[in-house]
Amino acid sequence: MTSMNNVTVAGSGVLGSQIAYQCAYRGKHVTVYDINDQAIEKAKSRIAGLETSYHRDLGTSPQAFAEGLSRISYTTDLKAATENADIIIESVPEKPQIKHDFYVQLSTIAPAKTIFASNSSTLVPSQFMADTGRPAQFLNLHFANEVWKNNTAEIMGSPKTDPKVYDEVVEFAKEIGMLPIKLKKEQPRYILNSILDPYLDAGLTLWAKGVADPHTIDQTWMKATGAPMGPFAVMDHVGLRTEYNIHSVLAQESNNADLIKAMSMIKSMIDDGHLGVESGEGFYTY
Ligand code: NAD
Repeated sequence: MTSMNNVTVAGSGVLGSQIAYQCAYRGKHVTVYDINDQAIEKAKSRIAGLETSYHRDLGTSPQAFAEGLSRISYTTDLKAATENADIIIESVPEKPQIKHDFYVQLSTIAPAKTIFASNSSTLVPSQFMADTGRPAQFLNLHFANEVWKNNTAEIMGSPKTDPKVYDEVVEFAKEIGMLPIKLKKEQPRYILNSILDPYLDAGLTLWAKGVADPHTIDQTWMKATGAPMGPFAVMDHVGLRTEYNIHSVLAQESNNADLIKAMSMIKSMIDDGHLGVESGEGFYTY
């Protein structure tokens, strides 16, 4: 058993809310931190909404689900959120400036003992280790969407991460029901997104070029490979906000005109409130 019983999850969006509930479900005391009351109210309803999935996928009873809920508290006060934290799992938007500002602020507030772990999809810990003021106690702990069943936790330190801290986080990942995947070195996008992002980019490029519509692209992939979802359904599940943050960087880096066009198409969907599964409308209707 690790001594990590008090967990703070910062950022309670699509993934932060799932991570928070999964930790609480597995017996941890969880504090959810977000920037304002509106975000906190949204987190509460996202977390309550997980009951159906836990019941369907894990057979969780209403009572067991409620016990998990009882271990979660919510706050918009970062100092209060962190004062008892053994580990803070950061799940704020995939924008380097937001993460940078968050760690700079956190470094002056969090107790010296607290471990910081980032759920970033694409960024490596070296990018933020100086901001944290505690490089030895900082690493990435990357979850996959639908954490209760797609339960990989990719664990990636920087060259400065203390190996003891790394090992402790591996144990923590097991305690919260994850399968720890230990990366031996820093890799932007880890294993999962190093494979997934080029696949999604390929779908986006076919769409932007007008080769086929999203449903045809998905159907081709699913029928031909037996996969349960195609790239556009995957993006709906991840959430179009986060996909936009990730793939617009890739589009700019590769200077791929089709991908840049696809990003402006996704931006229009976001502006229309089509965010994927979370808003009930994306490439599909939910
Ligand atoms: P999201 O947009 O759904 O949620 C982000 C949350 O962060 C929101 O609740 C927002 O209010 C909050 N926030 C914004 N600024 C903040 C700040 N300064 N401090 C605290 N909270 C702040 O995003 P998401 O999809 O949950 O992604 C969050 C992180 O998790 C990203 O780094 C993303 O790459 C990673 N991730 C996402 C997925 C996925 O499938 N969505 C999977 C793995 C990892």
